Amino acid sequence: MSLGPLKAINDKQLNTRSKLVHTPIKGNTADLVGKENHFKQTKRLDPNNDHHHQPAQKKKREKLSALCKTPPSLIKTRGKDYHRGHFLGEGGFARCFQIKDDSGEIFAAKTVAKASIKSEKTRKKLLSEIQIHKSMAHPNIVQFIDCFEDDSNVYILLEICPNGSLMELLKRRKVLTEPEVRFFTTQICGAIKYMHSRRVIHRDLKLGNIFFDSNYNLKIGDFGLAAVLANESERKYTICGTPNYIAPEVLMGKHSGHSFEVDIWSLGVMLYALLIGKPPFQARDVNTIYERIKCRDFSFPKDKPISDEGKILIRDILSLDPIERPSLAEIMDYVWFRGTFPPSIPSTVMSEAPNFENIPEEQSLVNFKDCMEKSLLLESMSSDKIQRQKKDYISSIKSSIDKLEEYQQNRPFLPHSLSPGGTKQKYKEVVDIEAQRRLNDLAREARIRRAQQAVLRKELIATSTNVIKSEISLRILASECHLTLNGIVEAEAQYKMGGLPKSRLPKIKHPMIVTKWVDYSNKHGFSYQLSTEDIGVLFNNGTTVLRLADAEEFWYISYDDREGWVASHYLLSEKPRELSRHLEVVDFFAKYMKANLSRVSTFGREEYHKDDVFLRRYTRYKPFVMFELSDGTFQFNFKDHHKMAISDGGKLVTYISPSHESTTYPLVEVLKYGEIPGYPESNFREKLTLIKEGLKQKSTIVTVD
Ligand code: ADP
Repeated sequence: MSLGPLKAINDKQLNTRSKLVHTPIKGNTADLVGKENHFKQTKRLDPNNDHHHQPAQKKKREKLSALCKTPPSLIKTRGKDYHRGHFLGEGGFARCFQIKDDSGEIFAAKTVAKASIKSEKTRKKLLSEIQIHKSMAHPNIVQFIDCFEDDSNVYILLEICPNGSLMELLKRRKVLTEPEVRFFTTQICGAIKYMHSRRVIHRDLKLGNIFFDSNYNLKIGDFGLAAVLANESERKYTICGTPNYIAPEVLMGKHSGHSFEVDIWSLGVMLYALLIGKPPFQARDVNTIYERIKCRDFSFPKDKPISDEGKILIRDILSLDPIERPSLAEIMDYVWFRGTFPPSIPSTVMSEAPNFENIPEEQSLVNFKDCMEKSLLLESMSSDKIQRQKKDYISSIKSSIDKLEEYQQNRPFLPHSLSPGGTKQKYKEVVDIEAQRRLNDLAREARIRRAQQAVLRKELIATSTNVIKSEISLRILASECHLTLNGIVEAEAQYKMGGLPKSRLPKIKHPMIVTKWVDYSNKHGFSYQLSTEDIGVLFNNGTTVLRLADAEEFWYISYDDREGWVASHYLLSEKPRELSRHLEVVDFFAKYMKANLSRVSTFGREEYHKDDVFLRRYTRYKPFVMFELSDGTFQFNFKDHHKMAISDGGKLVTYISPSHESTTYPLVEVLKYGEIPGYPESNFREKLTLIKEGLKQKSTIVTVD
């Protein structure tokens, strides 16, 4: 439905409705409402909250929800009558009441006082909450039903969750058992996966926003701070959330922003809180909480022992770097989930710890898969299927919440993981826990590597390079980079498969490399000497003169619209007059390099070096200088004076030590060995990561400004 004008109203309109019903008082509802009391800092940071714009008021701030008066006992809207029932709870913004339609069906009415919507910003925020929540349909998300308004309030009609929230559960029970938390985490992950697949970040996941339906299934609610990303790579910059649950990148990330991973972080906080009894970064004041979050200052108290598997999962989720946090799919693969897993949560959960001790291992696995299945964690659905499910789900929820069960059973597809047959048959392939643990470790290592690469990528900014004005030349360079990068990746794959037999190893050919260089680009250009002793100057206008060492000859190389580069051969004795100045510069550099620079390698011209080679591009990065030679060799001179060249399309690696010893190896062999033989100090692995990053960067640049 459309929400009507929802105009900002002034104070005079406040409470003007006749027959005001007295609002049930907090006192008698405190138990039910459960304001995360033992989570001291629960007031969420909401940049749009009008309250934040009134700093002058010294007196204790009244919650905006206090402006919301109890709705009349009969609410009439668009021909439909709703009967107000009892008070359900109160948030910072809204009060929630039970509400019954003519057919007797019961809903929750989240009621927002129009008096609290004073600014356009707040109005937009409420509309956004409605819009986002309305677009959600998942068994573990509070179902949005409808919304309407009267003179005083805006009503958001929701699926009723009559059994409180995880917050209330924890308040009553103090701490939960691991099997229960496994079940809850699975349902929450299902809902988060669904939200993220629709590019929605919730941004306020906390125990108080996750409710129980009549069957003690979890439902995520309160989309008040949710955001939809226009695309996967968009970042959000608003600082919002609830102190205990805020992700570090939200606190630090004024510049880099945040994304989906903030919900994963909050999941980690909840997991810890449920198992330990209080959130991991709890402190007396908000600033201390923030300081603790920013340096990931948390530990597992000895007096509240939890399983090692649980600790591993929590530690991994609470990674400072969002890239290092496991994805939802990776989370579901954690060994921790292979422990005792209940088929459902009994209604006695609020008062006592359920006893799940007698569930056998195989049955636990079946329960786990069932729970994943019901939370839609197993199927990757087509949008068609999602639409169908959404329709089914809404119609089932409208007739009765209990129909959820039926909905689950009637889903139009069969879980592929469930083969027909008895329980024992279904999961004969009981997972090898050790293998699973190793997989978890591998996934963690991969994430850490990914995070390191992301840091490198950010730091890898070219400080100088020769500008190439020909599109075709840029494309040639990009494709060479791509080819070599692929070669390296292939060698890595070969290494993982156990290496190559001798007969398939590439033949060793020392490449031509740059043995000396001088960057004089603020005046003439970039000059270099190759291992063949040829001397080249890459002039600032993009042309190159390459003077050959063993003949009185030189090449003049310039750009060509179709070929990329064209080279003309000259005898020194027949040099065209317009090139004499160029040759003087070459001479100047040759003398300079001879007098001042030492040659970095003993390589010389080999028989297989039939063609002359020139430098197509040099790029100076902080940690290394990268040379791209015309025969497809890439050379990397690192700041620590170790040098490496990658040739033969990524198959060969040449190492040049700081003391100028040089050797060439098949890359796959060095990977097998783990380092350059005899030179462990060269940090080969680290350097290869940088090399790949440099190649990756250069393989995407294809256009000129
Ligand atoms: P706010 O946006 O003001 O934080 P919430 O969405 O958190 O509001 O709702 C406020 C309170 O209303 C909750 O803490 C809970 O007690 C109650 N509530 C919210 N949604 C439901 C629901 N679907 N069923 C039952 N109670 C609900």
